[in-house]
Amino acid sequence: MTKQILKAHKVRLYPNEGQQIFFAKSFGCTRFIWNKMLSDKIDHYNEHKTELKNTPAQYKKEFEWLKEVDSLALANVQQNLRAAYNKFFKGSGFPRFKKKGIKDSYTTNNQKGTVAITDSTVKLPKIGHIKARLPSKINGLIKSATISRTPSGKYYVSLLVETIVEPLLKTHSRIGIDLGLTDFIVLSDGSKVANPTFLSKLQHKLAREQKILAKRRAVAKANQRKLSDSRNYQKQKIKVAKVYERITNCRKDFLHKLSFNLIKNHDVIAIEDLNVKGMVKNKKLAKAISDSSWSTFTTMLNYKAEWYGKKLVKIDRWYPSSKTCSGCGHLLTKAELPLQVRSWNCPSCQQKHDRDINASINILNEGLRLVTIKTVGATGLA
Ligand SMILES: [Zn+2]
Repeated sequence: MTKQILKAHKVRLYPNEGQQIFFAKSFGCTRFIWNKMLSDKIDHYNEHKTELKNTPAQYKKEFEWLKEVDSLALANVQQNLRAAYNKFFKGSGFPRFKKKGIKDSYTTNNQKGTVAITDSTVKLPKIGHIKARLPSKINGLIKSATISRTPSGKYYVSLLVETIVEPLLKTHSRIGIDLGLTDFIVLSDGSKVANPTFLSKLQHKLAREQKILAKRRAVAKANQRKLSDSRNYQKQKIKVAKVYERITNCRKDFLHKLSFNLIKNHDVIAIEDLNVKGMVKNKKLAKAISDSSWSTFTTMLNYKAEWYGKKLVKIDRWYPSSKTCSGCGHLLTKAELPLQVRSWNCPSCQQKHDRDINASINILNEGLRLVTIKTVGATGLA
């Protein structure tokens, strides 16, 4: 059965000077309207104890320059603020004010071709065609476009496109995945996928550039100069942002390829349901990147399994996948298997285990057990 999904395509934009000014205005206006509507809501609540129902349109008289930007961008701010309030009512944090230069972006919608693409441009409401580097195939109806500027000064548009996907062929293969300590993942078939070496190289580069940035901050401070006036500091700040963006892009690319291959080659994929696991070697930075990689990776597996007709099973985070012998089920105590022990012999059945491969086999078995329970349960009801 084919499926209709919304797929996001991130496209690099090359706006000319005038277009850059338009984008800067749009980021500014959407940020302004968010902050203004939010502060008015807060004031109104403090006075009347009810929520103010305000709209961007009612501010256009007082702040005429709001008319210069895409009105749909402002309408989307209202919706996002609505969503932030709904989240707050459900227990999340209170909506925050937006700061300049942090996640500069705005979203517009396609209304009968107001957003469109050619071979080398993206057309946007109120501004027209922007030079762009488009991937080979974007097919289907464009629903919306989110324009953003990175801290290093690059422009992107994320196009949300209605796309038809066909399920992938069944392979009758099943796999368990464990988040490795030294490798990125370890699979129940005995294979290991290392963290890509270019990532660790870039991480070292990032650490180096950050050190230089800290030095420049100290120099500016010693000379009693504002950071915004220190050219050397600002130049270095952009350098750091660039390395950081490269890491993010390379990492995403790696995770996309890896998750797609797993979904393509296996029908059932079992993983542990965790965001953060114990310890990762190296420094804090490596750990943060590894942790966030794991959560991005599981998110990708989740929606790709859904798209392509495969099954992803998540195992309870307290399931003792490392400490159980996958051969005979013998359970070790925590003291018997400290983190630094990479391989062990089962005291019960004498089988020799690689710590991570053993864990991934247990994850697969537990995953298959859960799938069977669900299937039998469903059949029993019918
Ligand atoms: Zn055993």
